[in-house]
Amino acid sequence: MFDETLQNLLTEAFAASGCPVCTVVGAMVFRELCKLQRDAVVDPDTHADVLARGGYCADHFWYLDALASPVTNAALLAPLLELVSERLTAASNRIAADSALLRQGAAVIGEDLGLPGACRVCERVVLWERAVLAAVLEVATQPQRRQEYTSSNGLCLPHLARALSVAPNPSIAEMLVRTGAEQAQRLAADLRTYVRKHEQRDRRWGREEAAPRAAIEKLAGGKRRAGGTES
Ligand SMILES: [Zn+2]
Ligand SMILES: [Zn+2]
Repeated sequence: MFDETLQNLLTEAFAASGCPVCTVVGAMVFRELCKLQRDAVVDPDTHADVLARGGYCADHFWYLDALASPVTNAALLAPLLELVSERLTAASNRIAADSALLRQGAAVIGEDLGLPGACRVCERVVLWERAVLAAVLEVATQPQRRQEYTSSNGLCLPHLARALSVAPNPSIAEMLVRTGAEQAQRLAADLRTYVRKHEQRDRRWGREEAAPRAAIEKLAGGKRRAGGTES
């Protein structure tokens, strides 16, 4: 099931303008957060897990803000804020009992406030990136499918670096670098076409219409993948 979904997403991603790993992982993050927005409120295990982690990382909290309705978010945020209040009350009581704590610095008081820990979405992103990158490398190295990879804009630089570190042999690494140079050159040419057409007020757009955004994604990675990238 995962494989079939992954293959379908990959085929779409190669035809799109962005990094295939960022595109597929971005789609998976979207699905996960669509499911989580509800499960974190109504499913007891998920709710307890999200509470224990102090919510999500900043990227995925703001993602939920854009995605979920305010009332759904309010149902999750109320118990989280109650937990924060309990911890601050406990910290206040500790200070009242031992004012020397204040002289030891804010870190002593702040260490137990429950700042968000490991975000559960980020944890999944790390696993997904690994699986999707392996699937991309498989396509890129299959003679009958490699053209899907070479004709795409290819991996973003962060995922290319990751691919080179896990490439199973030197000839695959060499192919990734050589193809990467060609893909970057093609994207640069698309950007120049974009600028020229804009200056000439030529509105007959081709694939270069997507180039400015694709170029940012090429350099920095896709923004919907946010969080969780392995270092
Ligand atoms: Zn990427
Ligand atoms: Zn996260």
